[in-house]
Amino acid sequence: MTFKDLKIAEPILRAIEEKGYTHPTPIQEQSIPILLDGHDLLGCAQTGTGKTAAFAIPIIQHLHFDKDRNGKQRKIKALIVTPTRELAIQIQENFTLYSKYTDLRNAVIFGGVKQGSQTAQIRQGIDILVATPGRLLDLIGQGFITLKNIEYFVLDEADQMLDMGFIHDIKKIIALLPSKRQSLFFSATMPATIVELSGKILGSPRKVSVTPEQTTAEKVEQGVYFVTKEDKPNLLAHIIQTQNADSTLVFARTKHGADKIVKRLAKDKITAEAIHGNKSQNQRQKALGNFKDGKTRVLIATDIAARGIDVSQLSLVVNYELPNVPETYIHRIGRTGRAKASGIALSFCDLEERPFLRDIEKLIKQSIPVITDHPYVDDSVEVGKKPAQNAQQNNSAKKKTGSSGNKNIWRRNKPKPNNK
Ligand code: AMP
Repeated sequence: MTFKDLKIAEPILRAIEEKGYTHPTPIQEQSIPILLDGHDLLGCAQTGTGKTAAFAIPIIQHLHFDKDRNGKQRKIKALIVTPTRELAIQIQENFTLYSKYTDLRNAVIFGGVKQGSQTAQIRQGIDILVATPGRLLDLIGQGFITLKNIEYFVLDEADQMLDMGFIHDIKKIIALLPSKRQSLFFSATMPATIVELSGKILGSPRKVSVTPEQTTAEKVEQGVYFVTKEDKPNLLAHIIQTQNADSTLVFARTKHGADKIVKRLAKDKITAEAIHGNKSQNQRQKALGNFKDGKTRVLIATDIAARGIDVSQLSLVVNYELPNVPETYIHRIGRTGRAKASGIALSFCDLEERPFLRDIEKLIKQSIPVITDHPYVDDSVEVGKKPAQNAQQNNSAKKKTGSSGNKNIWRRNKPKPNNK
């Protein structure tokens, strides 16, 4: 299957070819025909699957052939709502790229920066708007934007939207949309709340699901370290020094925690940068740019800030803390092992985080191998010193990954125990 087989118009084909895409990804192959036919779509897919192009290409094509546009003042006809600034920017970049040989114009709006340049672009006339919910409602309230001409509406990363508390904003936005429209709804996970929300947005949608959650988990080599909270900083420094990964993304639970990790790594002369909500948009973009260009090899991020990170060569993900929502684990490890590449995801687990680990293993239907060959093993997890369940888990895991284990990631760069 090629993009040509999908009946994509010449100007868009040319742009895609220039970008170097040779074949559509599975989500593109499945979604593009449905969307070109004008159906609503419920897509279960995460970033990394090529879903942005899956929705951007058909929208561009519809608008490109839209006779109503000819010679008239531009109206915002397509709206893409996404939870984070990083994602919004990335989506807009995709639209710009694929529509470069059409006369379509787009803009991106998000909070945390002055609105002047955003409203100026909107005033000049755009066809496609990419937005985060808060800034969108703000500019609608101020009269800069109307949604009454929207014909194509995309709600992206719906599960993350709900996690971030955007449900009321989303409902307000939906209420402002014309009822006659094509709607697209994407979410990496489909719990009941998401299905319910999708019912409010979509007519009778076609459903597309790619990369079932387990696939990411299967593709990425994983390991867990049982380590005390106190030893986590040392273990991280140790891993970065021994794994020798080209690019490492470390997930921290809090903004403050992320900054602390950067400082701790500096003591070992490891250059790292942090991105999170307390950093300005410029700081975040700069840190992300440095990471993508390979100038910074270690990036510390909170979940929300990391949502839009698309680094093709990301080799190692470290969960400095385990997430209490198991789906988040899949999002995180999905940062590595993108497209067809495989990656490594290592997690730190202290005693309090054991229940989180169990939930994750239940969700991914795998037990994550325990790495015992490192200088910071948490001694308190030995049999007899802790609750039976943990003891058993650790003990059996140790057996599994003992010195006779094969293909284990940590054996590639076997750490030499050093003084604690
Ligand atoms: P997304 O899931 O939209 O975040 O896309 C993930 C990455 O895949 C992005 O870097 C895209 O540029 C890239 N991509 C999207 N479609 C294709 C394709 N058909 N062939 C190769 N790369 C693609």
